[in-house]
Parts: sequence; C-alpha cells; structure tokens
Amino acid sequence: MEEKILQEIVAKRYGKSIASCSNEELYFALLELTKKVIQTKKRNTGEKKLYYISAEFLIGKLLSNNLINLQIFDDVGDILKKNGKSLEEIEEIEPEPSLGNGGLGRLAACFLDSIATLGLNGDGIGLNYHFGLFKQEFENHMQKETINPWIQKESWLNKTNITYEVPFKDFTAVSRLYEIDVTGYQNGCNKLRLFDIETIDESLVSKGISFAKEEIAKNLTLFLYPDDSDTNGLLLRIYQQYFMVSNAAQLILEECIQAGYNLDKLQEHVVIQINDTHPSLVIPELIRLLMEKGITMDRAISIVSKTCAYTNHTILAEALEKWPLDYLKKVVPHLLPIIIELDRRVKEKYQDPKVAIIDKENRAHMAHMDIHYGFSVNGVAALHTNILVEEELNAFYQIYPEKFNNKTNGITFRRWLMHCNQPLTRFIEELIGDEFKKDATRLQELLDFTEDKQVLNRLDAIKYENKVALKKYLMETQGIEINENSIFDIQIKRLHEYKRQQMNVLYIIYKYLEIKKGKLPKQPITMIFGAKAAPAYVIAKDIIHVILCLQELINQDLDVSPYLKVVMVENYNVTKAAKLIPACDISEQISLASKEASGTGNMKFMLNGAITLGTEDGANVEIHQLVGDENIYIFGAKSEDVINHYRNKDYVARDYYENDPLIHELVEFILSRDMLLIGEKKNLIRLYQELINKDWFMTLLDIKDYIKTKDQMIEDYSDREKWNKKALINIANAGFFSSDRTIEQYNEEIWKL
Ligand SMILES: *Cc1c(COP(=O)(O)O)cnc(C)c1O
Repeated sequence: MEEKILQEIVAKRYGKSIASCSNEELYFALLELTKKVIQTKKRNTGEKKLYYISAEFLIGKLLSNNLINLQIFDDVGDILKKNGKSLEEIEEIEPEPSLGNGGLGRLAACFLDSIATLGLNGDGIGLNYHFGLFKQEFENHMQKETINPWIQKESWLNKTNITYEVPFKDFTAVSRLYEIDVTGYQNGCNKLRLFDIETIDESLVSKGISFAKEEIAKNLTLFLYPDDSDTNGLLLRIYQQYFMVSNAAQLILEECIQAGYNLDKLQEHVVIQINDTHPSLVIPELIRLLMEKGITMDRAISIVSKTCAYTNHTILAEALEKWPLDYLKKVVPHLLPIIIELDRRVKEKYQDPKVAIIDKENRAHMAHMDIHYGFSVNGVAALHTNILVEEELNAFYQIYPEKFNNKTNGITFRRWLMHCNQPLTRFIEELIGDEFKKDATRLQELLDFTEDKQVLNRLDAIKYENKVALKKYLMETQGIEINENSIFDIQIKRLHEYKRQQMNVLYIIYKYLEIKKGKLPKQPITMIFGAKAAPAYVIAKDIIHVILCLQELINQDLDVSPYLKVVMVENYNVTKAAKLIPACDISEQISLASKEASGTGNMKFMLNGAITLGTEDGANVEIHQLVGDENIYIFGAKSEDVINHYRNKDYVARDYYENDPLIHELVEFILSRDMLLIGEKKNLIRLYQELINKDWFMTLLDIKDYIKTKDQMIEDYSDREKWNKKALINIANAGFFSSDRTIEQYNEEIWKL
C-alpha cells in the first residue's frame, strides 16, 4: 500500500524508482507520504478544547515519530530496506528545529503526543522561531553560538491563511499562522500552531547570533530567548510574549465564535494551560478582547479566571518573570490599565505584599497574576509541589488551597523507548507482548524475569549493542573514539549551576588524580556530557570550558586515557539524546536538592535501563520510591537541609575548601599548570573563584558523598548479574512516568475535556 504511494511520489517528483533516489530525495518523498497519510486520519474534536500555550516546543525530528504513531514505521522501514535504503540514514537529512531550550519545551512536546494519543481535543500554541535557540559549536574549548535554521521550502510546517493584527504601541504587527500536525499513537490528530510575522528579515543576523534588537518588525520571531541582558533584549521578550498570546487569544475567540459558542460561557468550551510564566499576558489580553466584544470587565475577569490554569516549573527566583510597568508601557500600553486593575482588586482583599501583582518597585509579577486569575496551579513533581505549597507560594496556598495540585511530569514512550531503543522494545515485546505500548503500567510484568539469567544477559547484550551504535555515531559526527567496554556515565541537560555539572567535573579531577597515583578503577569509565549554556550565562560557559579542557588533558595523558575518557557532545538536542540514552549505564541526576522541579531526563534513562545516581530532588524522589533503595544510588543533602541552609545563610563554601584537604586539592587543580596550558586563565580563575567564594548551589557540601557513592556504583557494576537486575527493575517500574498518565491526570483534574 505505502510502497505504491511512495513509488508514485518519487516517480512524479524525480522520475526515478525508490532504489535510485538519494537519501535526501527520499526524505522529501517520505515527508509528502506522511502528510498524505495524516490527511486520512480523524481530527480529535469535542465540545471543549484545550489550548496549551508555551514559548517552547522542543519537538525533535518528526519523521520516525509520525511513522510510529501512524503505525506504518515497520512497513516503511521494510520498503526502504528492500530497495537498499535505510530509514535511519534518511532520518539524518531531517533538520531538528530548536524551538525549545530544555526540559520545559520537551515536556510540551511529549504532552502534545499524549494529548493526541488519548484522543483529546487540544492544540499547542507557540511561535515559529526561524533560528530557534542556537546551534552550539566548540572552538578553542569554548562554546560558540551560531544560527540553527530549520525551515526549508518543504517541511512539516503548513502555511494557513489565518492572520491577525497584533497592536503594539509603535506599530501593528500582522501575523501568519503555520501549523504542524500532531499525530496520536493509534488515534486521531491535533495541531501545533505556530505564529510568525510576515515582515521577518533573516538577513538581520550578522555574526554568530547577534542582530539589531530594536527592529521588532524584522526580528520578532528570529530567536527563542534572545539575550535579555540589556534593555532592548528585555523589551524584545515582552514583544514576543505579547505577540504569542494576542494571537492565541484571537484564535481562541475566533474558533469559539465560529463554533457558535456563547463567549459568556467561554470556560465551558475552552481551557488554557499556561506553561510557565511566558504566556501569562494571555490573561489581561483575553480580558481586553472580551471587553471589546461588549462584555463587562467584572464578567470578563470572572470568565478568564475560570478558563486559565498555570503550571509552575521552577522555584529559581531569577526565572519567575517580573516585568517593570515602564517596559510594559513601552510595548503594550493598552494592557496596563487591566493589569493595574487586577492588582488593585488583589490589594483591596489582601494586604500581604507577598501576594501583590505589582510590587513596590513597580514590577508586575506574572506568576502572581496567574495564581489570582487562574483556577489551577500545579507543580511538576511531588516534592516540587510540596515546596510550592509549604515554602515558595505558601502565602497563595493560604488563600487558595483548592487551586494547588501536583502533576508529576512524564515522557512519551513512543519516542523515548519505541523509537530510540528498538532492540529493547522488541525484547520487551518478546517477553510480555505489546500491550505496554498503549498501557505503560504493563511494563510491571517484566518483574517476573528478575531472576531469569537469560533475560538479564539479553538486557546486557542490548546495552552493549547500543553502546556500539553510539560509538559509531560519535566517531562519524565528532571524530571521537570511545571504548564500548567501558562504563558509560552520562550527564546531558542544560548547563546550569543548580544542575551541578561542576560537581561532576570535580569527580573527574578526583578520578584523574587517583589514576595518576596508580589507583585504577575496576572498569574503564567514559564520562559523557551534553549541554548548551545560555549565551549570556558566563559561569555556565566557563564550566563548558573546563569540561573541554579536561577532555583534552585526559586524552593526551597515556597513563590515564585507557581508564578514563571525557566526551562533551556538541549541540546537545533531542536527536543526540535519543542516541545517548539507550547506551547509558549511569544516569547523572545530581542537582542540588529542592532545585530541580522534576527533571524528565531522569525518566528517559530509567526507561532505558540506566541506573540513577541522584540527589533526593524532583522526580528522583518518585523514582526512588518506585524502585526501592537497592536499585538507585542516592546521595547528598536533603531538600529540608538545603532550604535551612538558605534560610540561615550558614553555608560557607570556603570553609569546605580550607578544612578538607581533598576538596582543596580538587578545586586547586582547576588552576594547575596542566589546565592553564590548555585553557584560558581568565575563565578558569573565574570558575575557581565562584566555587570557593560563592558556590550558591552548594557543590562542596555534597562532593564527598557524591564521590563515595559514584565509586560504590563503579564497584557494583562489576557484578553484572546484580547490575542487570537493577536495570530490569528500573525499566519495569518506569510505566508511571509515561506522559499518557500525566495527561490523563491533567484531563481528569484540570481540563475536564
Ligand atoms: C529530556 C530533555 C531535556 C531535559 O533534561 P533534564 O535532565 O530533565 O534537565 C533537555 N534537553 C533535551 C534535548 C531533552 O531531550
């Protein structure tokens, strides 16, 4: 069936047979084929619709994922194989959009997959950034940012004839809606709707990723998170956010009117999930538009408050957006009276300045507006929600206990198991059938095999096969050789001090020095990193610098390199994650307890049979509960300890540095002669100073326990049977982290579609 269609497509396009097409020709032919098949699928519909608004959708490549969801992945693979082609190679042609930064954007992408899979009526709304976040390259052991263009003449984007006018103070922008089909696994389709501006000018970007920030009509949708370390950058972010939500609000109201719904009962037909604070301005914008349609302000506020729900993703103060009224006035003066009125109503009822929308410095707190004028506030893991309720947002919890709820994050198993780890998927099918693909809790049935030596050996063989595949990939893409017989220890996630890549760096230094002294590890170890640092985040870039220096230092050292290897993967993204995760033994989840809201990388690793080395933070806590003490390695201070240290201001990094000879030695190494020969003095000193004078995320507090626990893990790895049993128990218990479960809970408790 598909074979005939594909033959027709390539004949028409290129006048060739499948076998004589190039991979590139086949990629575009498959794109066309997939879009054709999508046209035959039903659209999810319903009386009520969800709009998931998010600044980020880190969707990754879509070809294979769509083929899986449309249930033609195997057929298409076979057709290609028969013609001497490989889907895996063709996939390499597809560009990966970087429409997201990290976990938050990837979560939005997993959610879209699950919403469609569960047959729910819900679309994503965001922006069509032409160059995405940025593409990372390494040069002189430093991160260099370049553009990541991904939009081609033919792509997953479908241009629509929907356009709106978005009023800014200085001009009116005309938008254009593009759509990407979202396929559900064995179910209907939804859409990801991305707004763009017609007057965008890609040639505005000169060197690297710099561009004229004031030319809003030309730059509005060039980049996700443009550098906001200056005023123009901050203003641009407000422009982007308002552009996103004004388009969203206009689209939502238009769809309701077209369906014949009464806007007075909007909440019966629409629910808006505000993903983090970036879309918060949708609240005053919807109120404004409803008032334009003749609804009173009181009524409009009441309607919107029953329509919007807010997800909090972080307790890091710097990430909770506060916009100075002066700035809002320069961009969207027409929203100001509404925000001021919303604040006035709050202040009339509650005197506590902690719950005000507008603070003493005349800044509007987006999260506060969401909580007062939304009907639901959720955290993204049990521990995180507890911290919101008991600490960060306690003043709000006192007022609105009924609004607070937890929705532990999840991941789509279609991408993070069925696509990225086909050998493991096939093996699980052999053991328990394929029910787990629709009902992830069925993975529990694997627990019947924990004592089955043959099964454990197969698991080991699959891990090895995946390591060999990763070795090949790293050789081809970065010219780096790794040892498939070593332990693969992987930390891949955004570069941030709270995630503590710097602690892992200190471990590498420790291991390097041990090996130098002749204390060899039982197994060779490969330490793999992948991380982008925000372009203006100086210390994060210094940490990348240190990792790249250590990579070179150890490579050059013939005493150490047979036992220890450091690899920093360039331009970490969804594609790379899918290659790395199935090959991993040790999953590094070492954030300072209380700081990682949930994490989703931790779930992907667990599902693929890696063992977690982690703090009691985010969803690690729930992983720990599910697998038990025997099947996870937990270390470090607990979140209560950490919160107390902050409250009492009694953590002094320098004390650890001065009083502990080992810690002293490890930190000093950053400025050793060997390091200075490879790296830049300025960057190395800056990181060194940060560690001993500030260390806001308490690396030195946990480093000793971390070293001890990781060494134990490396020791335990030698008992292969015991280790493989742990891996199996992790896989078997991963079902809870399917985003299908998360979305079912959102729907039952918040959306009620
Ligand atoms: C899953 C994922 C993340 C999130 O990882 P965490 O470890 O949870 O921070 C970030 N980036 C990409 C590309 C991912 O796939």
